[in-house]
Amino acid sequence: MRIAVIGGGPAGFMAAITAKKTQENTEVTIFEKTNSLLRKVKVSGGGRCNVTNATFSISKLIKNYPRGGKQLRKSFNEFHTTDTVNWFKEKGIALVAEDDKRIFPQSNSSQTIVNCLLNTAKSLKIIISLKSTVNKIISTKDGFNIKINNQSLFFEKVIIATGGNSKKETYNWLEEIGHTINKPVPSLFTFNLKNKSICDLMGLSAPNVITTIKGSKLKNEGPLLITHWGFSGPAILKLSSWAARDLADLKYEFVVAINWLAINENQLRNDLEKILKSKKIIYNYNPFKIPKRLWAFILQNINIKDCKKWNELSKKEKNRLINKLTNDEYRVSGKTTYKEEFVTCGGIRLEEIQMKTMESKIHKGLYFTGEILDIDGITGGFNFQAAWTSGYLAGKNSVI
Ligand SMILES: Cc1cc2nc3c(=O)[nH]c(=O)nc-3n(C[C@H](O)[C@H](O)[C@H](O)COP(=O)(O)OP(=O)(O)OC[C@H]3O[C@@H](n4cnc5c(N)ncnc54)[C@H](O)[C@@H]3O)c2cc1C
Repeated sequence: MRIAVIGGGPAGFMAAITAKKTQENTEVTIFEKTNSLLRKVKVSGGGRCNVTNATFSISKLIKNYPRGGKQLRKSFNEFHTTDTVNWFKEKGIALVAEDDKRIFPQSNSSQTIVNCLLNTAKSLKIIISLKSTVNKIISTKDGFNIKINNQSLFFEKVIIATGGNSKKETYNWLEEIGHTINKPVPSLFTFNLKNKSICDLMGLSAPNVITTIKGSKLKNEGPLLITHWGFSGPAILKLSSWAARDLADLKYEFVVAINWLAINENQLRNDLEKILKSKKIIYNYNPFKIPKRLWAFILQNINIKDCKKWNELSKKEKNRLINKLTNDEYRVSGKTTYKEEFVTCGGIRLEEIQMKTMESKIHKGLYFTGEILDIDGITGGFNFQAAWTSGYLAGKNSVI
């Protein structure tokens, strides 16, 4: 049997290796459009490769996927984070979990993962064809004819692992064979601010804020980082992921509200009661867990005089302070790609895929894996995990 794997990324490699390991006498070829393999793995996690995440409960794991989480339950039942750790361990690669649960190779170098996949593929005699763009696939009675650089080749089984792309036209060849594409848009990005006065505080991070898209119920909680263009950090990245589609519809022009203390207004009013009796100068006595410079910025912004004491605060000033701390609004105009990890929201509709095997429900013998599917996770190794899981399942089921 001959199997074509289209795309030389992590999902394609996992699929090819698993197919060949499951059925040694199968001929497996990876077709890669560029002249390099596993490019994203190499640059991933800031060059360290965040391989997966130490979330070993499937119920908890699926909560990290704004798209595809529910459907992935079936796939994770077959191969999940524990299997990934064991898979690499079997190949002599030790993986280490950090305090925030992100898992990296012990070597702290993505090259370890690249080498592991390349060497395993080589030892299994997987054929690699570089500079081979597939742009047409025709289903026949007993397999598929695929068009590679204007040449037509026949394969019994085909695994598509071409990754995500926010340009809809790159999916045309898959629409031509009857698959539906959920509109691709970017996910995992940072927010550019229109008024950049807060950017003077670049590099500063607030430990726990709630970010909300004004006029919607979309919100998230976590640390926020002020950059020279706007806002970044987990609270923003997670929000950009969960709200990816809504923010694309808004053309990345919207208002984000920051609750700097991550507590509600009533709780803050209660907390302030005692503090308002204090004779300390407000600028010098910051009772909250926010950095000094941010505290000064907030007070200046609502015109609190620098000699004012807590017990001299007028009712209006108190209300301004409460509003600023719990509902500080910023106009966002555009986005910036997060250099550590960005993915595509959208892709092949999951209703058209058997999630236990990754086989197309439209064409028997055709499989999809990785970011080409309408699956994407937040940062933390969840996107690679989706690639390992779906790649493993596509590879295994294509040969049994
Ligand atoms: C900078 C960056 C850092 C990241 N870091 C992390 C991280 O640390 N942890 C994590 O979990 N995720 C990370 N991600 C996300 C992760 O890299 C992707 O989700 C993952 O690579 C998807 O794997 P894939 O194999 O589906 O697609 P890809 O890795 O995109 O591979 C697809 C391959 O298919 C090829 N191809 C495309 N079209 C064709 C065609 N028509 N014919 C032939 N070949 C084709 C492409 O050239 C490419 O080589 C990061 C992403 C980026 C951009």
